[in-house]
Amino acid sequence: MTDTPKHHDVEEATLLVEAGRRAEWTSGIVNVPVYRASTCVFNSYEELQERTAAPSARHLFYARKGTPTQWALEDAITDISDGEGTMLYPSGVAALAGAMLACVDAGDHILIPDSVFDPTRSIADNFLTRFDISASYYDPRIGANIDALMQPNTKLVMTESPGSVTFEIQDIPAIAAVAHKHGAKVITDNTWATPIYFKPLDHGADISVEAVTKYIGGHSDIMMGAAVANKATFKRLQRAAFAMGQLVSPDDASLALRGIRTLAMRLKHHQENALELARWLEGHDLVHAVLQPALESHPDHALFKRDFKGSSGLFSIVMKGGRYEDTAAMIDDMRLFKIGYSWGGYESLILPSDPAPYRTVTPWTSTGPVLRIHAGLEDIKDLILDMDAGLERYRKQIA
Ligand SMILES: *Cc1c(COP(=O)(O)O)cnc(C)c1O
Repeated sequence: MTDTPKHHDVEEATLLVEAGRRAEWTSGIVNVPVYRASTCVFNSYEELQERTAAPSARHLFYARKGTPTQWALEDAITDISDGEGTMLYPSGVAALAGAMLACVDAGDHILIPDSVFDPTRSIADNFLTRFDISASYYDPRIGANIDALMQPNTKLVMTESPGSVTFEIQDIPAIAAVAHKHGAKVITDNTWATPIYFKPLDHGADISVEAVTKYIGGHSDIMMGAAVANKATFKRLQRAAFAMGQLVSPDDASLALRGIRTLAMRLKHHQENALELARWLEGHDLVHAVLQPALESHPDHALFKRDFKGSSGLFSIVMKGGRYEDTAAMIDDMRLFKIGYSWGGYESLILPSDPAPYRTVTPWTSTGPVLRIHAGLEDIKDLILDMDAGLERYRKQIA
């Protein structure tokens, strides 16, 4: 964690207001306008030559390379992530795929934590294998012992902290030190913490991936991903993204910029609600465990305290007994906790999520079903009432 951010001389809350709002782009209004564009027209042969020579500079060339609307979002994400530059993608998964493809060549090997977001597994196992790129999985709590798994052709170590559904915290500085010693790059999927609560590039990662779809968008109305790279990695990332024609619509970029302005405030409230709900659930007799790294009871709490500035609103609970089918009695009639994929919007969600089928090196065994919970921005009293009633329905179901 740096006390003196590289990109700015103001506090983070101020930066969230200022980021990306270059005067030449806003030209007298507060927000960067939505530039809907394909063709950009040049004033002369000379200007055509100039811009064609440097198509990725921050001037209009052809809208596939962006307009001020996307550039403002890229700059804002770069600034709050202490990065060198950001590329935008039409989804978080596209950002993961774009970042991974930027780091590997045919014949390379990738290390991936066993707690990884399932589609990341899919990119490696069902797509990169076609280019003779292999992947193997490691215990997310491995830390510096990852050294023993590094192969001569290991060129990329994926990290995600906390892990999807199961919430293991990874020692990213220790893993990055080993990876770099072997000449491998490190990507961190930072969707859970967002750059507000964790800045992977300050802890040794080379690329930080954000599903903008989640907290940065914040209102469950856009799909988008971002990959932010450090100085040594940005050119590679940019070349790969341009080669594959990745871009996002200016309308979506504008919504994501709007999300950034309130990101810290929203997260603070998500955190408060999540912790109160998690503590309440921890005391419930039907709940075997609460998987939330900000709780003192979490096995990785010390690591969390060392590296993270706060917690977002997503965590899981492990039920004491019952089967996945039994959770229907609990979730079908909830008033506020909606059943749905994704998270990071203003609303609360609940989702039965069995980690067992995805684990390949660290088997998952538990006393009962796992439910993933997103604490939204509702009043905590209403959320607890809704959860309490749901748990009583579950009690009847499994009795
Ligand atoms: C949702 C999610 C993504 C992917 O984002 P999409 O925009 O849905 O593609 C990536 N990583 C994590 C950890 C996620 O939860």
